[in-house]
Amino acid sequence: MNFKGFFRQLGEFDLEEPRRKILELTEEDWNSEAWRQKSYPVHQQTQTISLIFDKDFRHDNPTVHPRFEHFKDAFTPFLQSTADYFNQMPVAQENREACGEGYFVRLIIVKLQDEGIVHPHGDGGFSLMHSHRIHVPMFVEGEVLFKVGAECRTLQAGTIWEINNKCLHAVKNVSGKPRIHVIADWVIPGERCCCGTRLRPGGECSPEACKATDYQNQACDCYQHQA
Ligand SMILES: [Zn+2]
Ligand SMILES: [Zn+2]
Repeated sequence: MNFKGFFRQLGEFDLEEPRRKILELTEEDWNSEAWRQKSYPVHQQTQTISLIFDKDFRHDNPTVHPRFEHFKDAFTPFLQSTADYFNQMPVAQENREACGEGYFVRLIIVKLQDEGIVHPHGDGGFSLMHSHRIHVPMFVEGEVLFKVGAECRTLQAGTIWEINNKCLHAVKNVSGKPRIHVIADWVIPGERCCCGTRLRPGGECSPEACKATDYQNQACDCYQHQA
């Protein structure tokens, strides 16, 4: 989802329990889902554990994988903080009655190897352009350069961030250690994308209506039209 800015911090959380659970993952677990790095060249130096995920990048009724149970209790504090953050947004409160409660449509754990690079890319497709992309750093030992739009940061473990995934983003791990983030996508039902709101006022967002703007592989200029 596009927003005005590149990163926004949503909160902080206690690392102890989530880290303990992640450390129980074996090398076999980490290698069990090779499809993401094979399907997407920009992700080839990553390994992924899917907890809530569908390869079709659907926008509702996501598949919760059995592995989620293993992490559920340990992850609840930061997942709840994230949910609380979005639930109190005006757009969520305005839409709740007509469109329902917000939800996580994706939740994955991603390891980026030492010296690993995620080349610059902008996300595309209906669901990624109509959900909030959350990064939750779990293991970050040194510098991991995360560039979104014009801003570059190392996100510290124990903090919760939304990144603007409509902008070009890239990662370079120069820390000497693997970096592990939890990445989640939060949906506020009925929330419109910037382009839909600006170009099609009064309408609704849908994969058909938003097709032209969901797939442009660069940030739109919607926020430059704001006063
Ligand atoms: Zn839209
Ligand atoms: Zn836009």
